[in-house]
Amino acid sequence: MTVAIHTLDDGAWISVNDARRVSVSDLWLLARHDVCACEVADFLAEAFVSVSVADGDIAAKIAGRCILCGEESVTDWVTVGRVVDGEFHGVVPESVHIPRLRHRKSAR
Ligand SMILES: [Zn+2]
Repeated sequence: MTVAIHTLDDGAWISVNDARRVSVSDLWLLARHDVCACEVADFLAEAFVSVSVADGDIAAKIAGRCILCGEESVTDWVTVGRVVDGEFHGVVPESVHIPRLRHRKSAR
């Protein structure tokens, strides 16, 4: 099944299959990241700069700021949700996320 994703409103939203699904302004807890020196960053999302989908796994690079230390940065790929049987399921931003250097390539 094809999953269509893109950003809207200068990166304020991620649209999945033509519905606004993920918005900025959430705090994302990031571990094993390189956005700042904090062990776990409390990262305020300000814009989604890139989005990618592979096998229903939707990931984004997020521009924002760690509210603990004030450092501004862009994350590596963070999974923001999954599409299973055509249904979007978002992750919980406040749980701990580990950004990855590469979004996994589609097996197809
Ligand atoms: Zn920090």
